[in-house]
Amino acid sequence: MAKVKSKLSPKASLSLDDVKSEMERCLNPWNGGCESTDIAIYIVYKGNKIPLCWKCWRKISRKDFEWEAY
Ligand SMILES: [Zn+2]
Repeated sequence: MAKVKSKLSPKASLSLDDVKSEMERCLNPWNGGCESTDIAIYIVYKGNKIPLCWKCWRKISRKDFEWEAY
């Protein structure tokens, strides 16, 4: 099914680089040092959408954090 387009413009490859540099990192507010890119879910914390990695998510889901803190 996949047809390779040979007319990829330089802009297209630039935007791919942008996607890479904007790769989501874990922003676990309860663990500032975590920068894992293995994002599991997004949570809304204090009005911000925050990516969480699997490790942090498992920790948090076990600890039963209070989600209505904001
Ligand atoms: Zn994390």
